[in-house]
Amino acid sequence: VSDAKAFWQKADKYLMSTGVPYSPVIITRTEGTKLFDSEGRQILDFTSGQMSSLLGHAHPEIVAVVRKYVAGLDHLLSNMITYPVVNLAERLARLLPAPLEKSFFLNTGSETTEAAIKMAKCYTGKFEIVAFSASYHGLTQGSGSATYSAGRRGGGPATPGQLVFPAPYAYRSPFKKADGSYDWETEMDYGWSMIDRQSVGSLAAFIMEPILSTGGILDPPEGYLQRLHSECKMRGMLMIMDEAQTGVGRTGQMFAFQRDNIVPDILCLSKTLGAGLPLGSVSTTAEIERGCKEVKFLWLTTHLNDPLTAAVGDKVLEIVERDNICQRAAERGQQLREGLLKMQEKYWCIGDIRGRGLLQGIEIISDPKTKAPGSDLGQAVSDRAMANGLSCNVVNLPGMGGVFRLAPPVTVSSEEISFGLKILDEAFGHVLA
Ligand code: PMP
Repeated sequence: VSDAKAFWQKADKYLMSTGVPYSPVIITRTEGTKLFDSEGRQILDFTSGQMSSLLGHAHPEIVAVVRKYVAGLDHLLSNMITYPVVNLAERLARLLPAPLEKSFFLNTGSETTEAAIKMAKCYTGKFEIVAFSASYHGLTQGSGSATYSAGRRGGGPATPGQLVFPAPYAYRSPFKKADGSYDWETEMDYGWSMIDRQSVGSLAAFIMEPILSTGGILDPPEGYLQRLHSECKMRGMLMIMDEAQTGVGRTGQMFAFQRDNIVPDILCLSKTLGAGLPLGSVSTTAEIERGCKEVKFLWLTTHLNDPLTAAVGDKVLEIVERDNICQRAAERGQQLREGLLKMQEKYWCIGDIRGRGLLQGIEIISDPKTKAPGSDLGQAVSDRAMANGLSCNVVNLPGMGGVFRLAPPVTVSSEEISFGLKILDEAFGHVLA
C-alpha cells in the first residue's frame, strides 16, 4: 500500500466530512508562494491558502514571532491583556481613519462578524441585519444568517430579522441600460424599496464586503458605497465593513473601503491580518464602545486578545507598512490583470475580468453570444492548472458562471505572476481544444 493510499484510507475512516470535497493533493510543506506535495512537486499558490497568507507561507519574521511567543507568552486568562495586544490596537488605530479607534482581537472571520452583528444590535437596540445577496460573512449561526453565497440549507431558519439586498453584479444585472452601462442607482432604489417594505422598523446594520469575494469578485462601481453609506445613516443603521479578504493591503490600499471615502461604523479584519494564523479584529468608534458598555459579556471567547496571535498581527502590519505592500499589491495586481485581459481576448469562455489589486476574478461563460453561465468549464481549467503546478480557486453560484479567484500572496514576484499566467493560459487552451 503506497503512502498516499494509506493516507486516504485513514482520512476516509477518521476525518469527518464537513460538506467540502477534499482536494486530491496532499501538501506536505509550504514556503513563500509555493506549496510542495507528497510527491515533491512544486505548486504556485495563487490563493494565499484560504485567501489568508498575505505575506506568503512561513515568512521568516512571522516564524520568529511565533517561536518567541509560543515559547514564553502564548495564552492567558481572557481578561489579562498584554503588551502585544495593546501595541496591535495602537498600530491599528494609527492606520484607521477617525473616528475608528478602538479594537479587540479574536480568531476567525466568522467570530469577527458574529461579534460585529451583536455589537450593532446592542448599540442600536434593534435587530434587523441587511446583507448582499452574494455575501459571505462566515458560517456560525449569526454570521451564517448574513451569508447568502454559500447555500443556506441546513441549521434551520436564519436568525430573525435577516434581510437581503441585491448585490452589485454589473456583468449580469437586470438594471443594465441599452448602451450596456450599469444603472446601479436604480438598482439601489429598488433594493432599498424592498428593504423598507420588508423591515418591521428595526434596522440595526448593513453588513458588507467592499468587494464581494466568495460571491464572485463583485467590485461595486465608484459612488456605490457612498450612496449606500448615506442610505444607512438616513435609517439610523450602522455600516459593518467585513474586510476579511480585502483588508491589509491586498487591493492596493490598506483597506478597500478607503477608495470610496467612507468610514464604516464597525470594521472586521481577519484572514489577511494574521497572514495565515488565526487572528481577527473588530474595530469601532469610542461612541459605539460607550453605547455597548452596559452589556455584560458582550464578547468573551477563549482566545480573546491572545498575545501570540496579536504579536503576529502587529508584525504583519509593521511589514505591510515598511515594505510598501499596498504599492506592491497594486503593481503586481496590474500585471496580473493585464495578463488576464489578454487571455480574455484569446478565449471565448472568459466573460469578465474584475477585481482590484491582487484580488482578481475571471467569470467563465458557456456561450459567447448569450453569455450563459459556464460552471463545469471553470473546474476543468482549474484542475488542469493544478496538474501543471498552479493552485487557484473557482466559486460557483447559481445564475453566475464559475468564477476564478486569484489572490496570490503580495510577496509574489513578477516572474511568478508571469509563470502563473502561462499555466492558466495553457489550461484554457487545453480545455477548449
Ligand atoms: N468574511 C469574509 C468576507 C470571508 O471571506 C470569510 C471567509 N471566507 C469570512 C468572513 C469567514 O471567515 P472564517 O472562515 O475565518 O470564519
